[in-house]
Amino acid sequence: MDIVGHLINGKIDASASRLQDVYNPATGTVSKQVAIASKATVEEAIACAQAAYPEWRNTPAIKRARILFKYKELLERHADKITAMIGAEHGKICHDAAGELQRGIENVEYACGAPELLKGEFSKNAGPAIDSWSEFQPLGVVAGITPFNFPAMVPLWMFPMAIACGNTFVLKPSERDPSTALFIAELLQEAGLPNGVMNVVNGDKEAVDTLLTDKRVKAVSFVGSTPIAEYIYTTASANGKRCQALGGAKNHAIVMPDADMENTVNQLLGAAFGSSGERCMALSVAVTVGKEAGDKLIAQMREAMDTLKVGECSDASNDFGPVITKEHKEKVVGFINSAEAQGATVVVDGRNPQVAGYENGFFVGATLIDNVTKDMDSYQQEIFGPVLQVIRAETMEEAMQLINDHEYGNGTCIFTRDGEAARYFSDHIEVGMVGINVPLPVPVAYHSFGGWKRSLFGDLHAYGPDAVRFYTKRKTITQRWPSAGVREGKSFAFPS
Ligand code: NAD
Repeated sequence: MDIVGHLINGKIDASASRLQDVYNPATGTVSKQVAIASKATVEEAIACAQAAYPEWRNTPAIKRARILFKYKELLERHADKITAMIGAEHGKICHDAAGELQRGIENVEYACGAPELLKGEFSKNAGPAIDSWSEFQPLGVVAGITPFNFPAMVPLWMFPMAIACGNTFVLKPSERDPSTALFIAELLQEAGLPNGVMNVVNGDKEAVDTLLTDKRVKAVSFVGSTPIAEYIYTTASANGKRCQALGGAKNHAIVMPDADMENTVNQLLGAAFGSSGERCMALSVAVTVGKEAGDKLIAQMREAMDTLKVGECSDASNDFGPVITKEHKEKVVGFINSAEAQGATVVVDGRNPQVAGYENGFFVGATLIDNVTKDMDSYQQEIFGPVLQVIRAETMEEAMQLINDHEYGNGTCIFTRDGEAARYFSDHIEVGMVGINVPLPVPVAYHSFGGWKRSLFGDLHAYGPDAVRFYTKRKTITQRWPSAGVREGKSFAFPS
């Protein structure tokens, strides 16, 4: 059986303290095993990244960017292979995997602008014959720890910009679908990246804890669930590291009485069930305002959901695939059961989907639940499955209050034809990424991505302009060259 190893100093290394099974979630069978790195293996990767740093740091930004230009071409050339790899281990359908990869490539394109992004700031004559400038220096070895649900895109949020800024990198991808990250890292070597600048270690808590505590690692970017994000943030910070840790979500859509219902239903289908709801920006709660909007939404969703097709990744006619593991399927079904037991109405029930030929796959069908209330477990926690819950509200204020009271604040959306309502909503809602008739308001690569409240621990958002700040530290230099006109005598007053 194939073993997914590590990439250390430009070479594949399969040393492992243990092996863990990797599943094809559509068939429910083990397809590969992944090497789980020991502390010593992670330390070796850090040492290689540390050794590669001085030369990489001094490589002109334009030369670093040229490697990324080549890398972008390689990602595009191998797009079919990468999307198939994502499908085989994650389960998402090929069109969805292609979208993920494209959004990842856009981060490489943005990082190609490194010479412009790193230009710094300059003030001539900040004082008499004194010039002052700020430059943005790399941090050193930085680490990324990523989740299963975007095995290409989330790593690409991190390492292209980190290395464009002159850092060296150690990535710890999800052990549940590890092949993609390893392959896209190998392509960097092919693009001409010097050995040791980009390293990948596969593993679990032992590998992560090594990255969090090793003094040579200067910063940690994390994306995953909230309890782990909080642990990563507190541990990395306590160990003196810069940290950004993006966590889970519960994204609400407000459906106003004046919304274009046909458009709303179409948008909600993709946003709630696409990628089996395993997106941190998935719209998992629809809050309808007024009885009529609620009844209409339920009726039209029920009808539209009849046509949804769940199945295997390579069949582009499928709308979405399986969830990631058997345990995760049980968890999602458990939330549907609990909503029902706590008084909600299961309108469309996806607990027992029939997928011909894939009877052992980890499939959950699209599920619609009405009459959900805010005290239910299925509402308070992130389900991360193809489940749309509907809460009925009387007013827009009541709907907004629900969102503002929720512990998560990643994404949200309002469906309306009323510009005044939309503007009020985007101004006052306590959420980091807001859509107005746009169900998945994932910022483009030249903005930055991040939620509020317990959806993000740290100050700077992921990718875009915030990533340039996260992966560099500012140094401000003040310079004078004494000459006849500007030579000063002694002074003990604070310079002003
Ligand atoms: P996860 O938290 O289980 O795992 C994320 C990473 O942390 C993995 O690399 C994993 O190996 C590691 N990890 C897991 N347990 C650990 C532990 N005890 N100690 C140290 N490291 C540990 O998340 P997941 O299930 O892979 O991904 C789904 C979650 O990620 C969802 O909650 C989703 O909302 C979230 N997510 C958030 C964003 C965002 O941008 N906010 C994006 C994608 C996914």
